[in-house]
Amino acid sequence: MRLKTISSHQEDAERFFSISTKAFLEDKEGCLIGLKTIEVEWVFKTGERPELREIEGTEKQWDCNLVLLALGFAGAEKILVEQFGLEMDFRTNIKASTADYKTSVKGVFAAGDMRRGQSLIVWAISEGRETVYHIDSYLKGASNLPLKSDGDLPRI
Ligand SMILES: Cc1cc2nc3c(=O)[nH]c(=O)nc-3n(C[C@H](O)[C@H](O)[C@H](O)COP(=O)(O)OP(=O)(O)OC[C@H]3O[C@@H](n4cnc5c(N)ncnc54)[C@H](O)[C@@H]3O)c2cc1C
Repeated sequence: MRLKTISSHQEDAERFFSISTKAFLEDKEGCLIGLKTIEVEWVFKTGERPELREIEGTEKQWDCNLVLLALGFAGAEKILVEQFGLEMDFRTNIKASTADYKTSVKGVFAAGDMRRGQSLIVWAISEGRETVYHIDSYLKGASNLPLKSDGDLPRI
């Protein structure tokens, strides 16, 4: 794997990849003293979300007293999906068409990261606005809210 290296990486940093944290270790006072990790590998299957599999026998302990978490979007919250009974795509995003942002459940709409996966704020705003038009239409039978193609002005 080719990694981008910038000046701060060259100061005194060693980078490790494909490891997953299993536990934070603490001393008697509850202060952090280490991490327990395991190595992981991606398993790819056509049409399915890639699976991160733990590699047996690769557990390791690291001493540390500070942990910074830098986590990205890891899929839609399962609780919402389960409670609404929503259909998901193989990337574990909520299935909803860009034609009207309707999900598989009547009266439930999805937009933004939850629908397209980890993305950009401009897409969240754009999809959010389009979805509002379709929700309004769903509730009232028609809407005079603007669609993207209309610019910012409401339809009169
Ligand atoms: C670390 C990081 C850096 C990023 N940097 C950039 C950047 O520089 N530029 C850029 O364009 N994009 C960036 N993004 C992506 C951008 O933030 C997202 O694409 C955008 O916020 C998605 O908007 P959203 O409305 O779809 O979802 P979100 O902003 O995630 O909003 C979803 C909301 O739903 C709430 N929620 C979740 N579950 C429930 C529930 N059960 N009940 C009630 N509320 C709930 C959440 O608390 C949250 O407020 C970044 C993302 C991350 C994680």
